[in-house]
Parts: sequence; structure tokens; C-alpha cells
Amino acid sequence: MTKRVYNFYAGPATLPIEVLKKAQKELLNWENTGMSLMEISHRSKQYDAMHKEASSLVKELMGLSDEYKIIWLQGGASTQFWMVPLNLRIAGKPLEYVNTGTWSTKAIKEAKFYGDVKVVASSEDEKFSYIPKNVKFSDKAAYAHITGNNTIYGTEYSNWPKTSFDVPLVCDMSSNMMNKVIDSKIFGVIYAGAQKNIGPAGVTLVIVREDLLKRVPEETPTMQKWRTHSEKDSLFNTCPCWAIYICKLCLEYLKSIGGIPEIEKRNRQKAKILYNLIDKSDGFYKGHAQPDSRSLMNVTFRLQTEELEQKCVEEALKLNLIGLKGHRSVGGMRASIYNAMTIEGVNKLADFLTEFKENNR
Ligand code: PMP
Repeated sequence: MTKRVYNFYAGPATLPIEVLKKAQKELLNWENTGMSLMEISHRSKQYDAMHKEASSLVKELMGLSDEYKIIWLQGGASTQFWMVPLNLRIAGKPLEYVNTGTWSTKAIKEAKFYGDVKVVASSEDEKFSYIPKNVKFSDKAAYAHITGNNTIYGTEYSNWPKTSFDVPLVCDMSSNMMNKVIDSKIFGVIYAGAQKNIGPAGVTLVIVREDLLKRVPEETPTMQKWRTHSEKDSLFNTCPCWAIYICKLCLEYLKSIGGIPEIEKRNRQKAKILYNLIDKSDGFYKGHAQPDSRSLMNVTFRLQTEELEQKCVEEALKLNLIGLKGHRSVGGMRASIYNAMTIEGVNKLADFLTEFKENNR
């Protein structure tokens, strides 16, 4: 096989090799159509069947009831930062948010164009190193928004805030979609750019409780309404066919290995390997996130000096361990260990970090 690196980039991120091989095999002649999936009409019956299968796999894997609608959209999770308030606002009611980092801050900024935003809790006071506890949303809010996993700071909710049925909980799960078993009933809306945990860049998965599709007034531009896309099964206009197809292959793969319960087990094992290493390094590696808020997906840590961090990134690169430089707002290092990162990859990284510590302490 050609060279493959261990890819710890935060996204677009590594994909299961099984998925890439299947896509490669089917590239020139998809399902005996004599075309690649990139060339076939999104109105063809072959495409339609694949498209529906992708949506039904989302429902099956997440255990979603028929109350929930699956929408595949373009524009990234960033587009949902404004689609959420546009589709869910109710005149006179506050739009409530928890601010746990850069992506929450961006979501809050967009919501301000649509209504009165109330930030009910924030971890900005400690460099977004934790998830606020006992978050309370008011019963008067139009909706309650959280960022499930903070890709840059490496923090993640382990307990979800509670809201009433009338105050739908909206979660940006871009970097922790399907990384662990969740009780999906507690959410009104879940959205995620696919490119970290469920597929390639180019498509955003939006899961909406059906009753919420009615909130947006009819006199709203057509493409801006979730309702438009839901009513047409995300085929109102030309959808990102290729990205949806790769997501479908990823979802099939996830199902074949035992679904979300199995990937959760692996994700916990991977995270434990790295956090244990950090905790037992006598301060050589210092984790950014507070232990009870640690992300299963993005392990953020620092070394004593920036020079040492740079050296660590450079030496890792020589071993094909790539994408370990932290985001500029936190500095240091970040290992993104999404669903598709193997335990083998994490063990390689852990062996390298252990050796690097011995050689540089
Ligand atoms: N939310 C989170 C949690 C993210 O990590 C990102 C991307 N890194 C975004 C939103 C923005 O996603 P997109 O680039 O798909 O707009």
C-alpha cells in the first residue's frame, strides 16, 4: 500500500481505511451504473436509494425516533450558527447560549443578528478549560444552545443540561457526533459538519425534531428554512452527493463494527491512553482541559516551552505522526483522535511522547 500517515488533524480528519478502499473500488463504476457517484444525477433512482440509506443509517445508529428529521446541507456548521436562530426564534423570547470556546462564541455572534441573546454560563474566565456545571436555561428561552465538544480547547460535555420540551436543546456536535451513546430524545436539534467524525468536508448533518420545523415563518427565503430541505429529503436542490456517499460508507462501517456503543468503548480507551500519559509525566506534559471536562476527541496539552513544543511536533512528523500542533489560540499541542483514529495510531503517538519525554526532560 502507498504511504499512510497517522493523521491527528482537527478536521478534515482521518477516515477509516476500509471506507477509502471501498470508495476507491467503486470510483469508476458505482453500483454497476458505468459512472462514478460524482457523475450520476441526484434525481436518479440509484442515487436516491443511497441517499435514503445514509439518512436511515443516521437514525438507526443514533436510535432516533420518527419524530426526528435528517437533513444534509452545505455551508458547514458555521451556516447553522445563523440557521439555528433564524429557524427557531420566537418573538420576545431570549436565545440562550453557553459559551465554552471559539465555536460557541461564533454561534453567539450570529444569533445576535436574530434576537436577544443571553449567555447563561461561560468558561471564558479560565481560558475555556472547563464545561460549566449545573447550567440552567430559563423556561422562557426560544431555545438553548450548547457546543457539545470544544475542538480547540479540548473540553466536552459528559452530562447534558436539561431543558423542557418547549425549550429545545440545540447542540453543535461537529467534533463529537456519534462519538458516544447519547439519549437523543433530550435534543431538539443536533448539527455537525461531517468532516471530523462522520465523513468528509462538504456536508453538514442537521437533525431536527419535527415540531420545530413549523416555527419559521413561510415568508422566509426558501433555502434558509430547514423545512424546505426536510420536506424534500434534502433534495430540494443539488445536494453534495459525493460527501453524503462517503458519510454513508462511514456509517455502514460504524454499524459493521458494532455501532456507537463499540466506538464509544474504543474512544474511551484511546483518550485514556493519552490522558494517563499526561497525568503520569511529572508535569512534562500539562493538559489544558480540567480533568472532569476532558474531551474524548481533542487532547490538548502543553510542554514547558514553545521551543520544546515545536521540537516535539517536528520529531513526531519524522515518524509520520502529523497534525499535532495546537490551535493558535491555545498554543501547545493537540491530538485529535476522532472515531476513525485507530488504537494502534494512539499507541504509536503515546510511545513517541514517552520517548520524547525521556530524551528531553
Ligand atoms: N463547530 C465546531 C465545534 C467546530 O469544531 C467547527 C470547525 N472546526 C465548526 C463548528 C465550524 O465548522 P465548519 O467549518 O463546518 O463551518
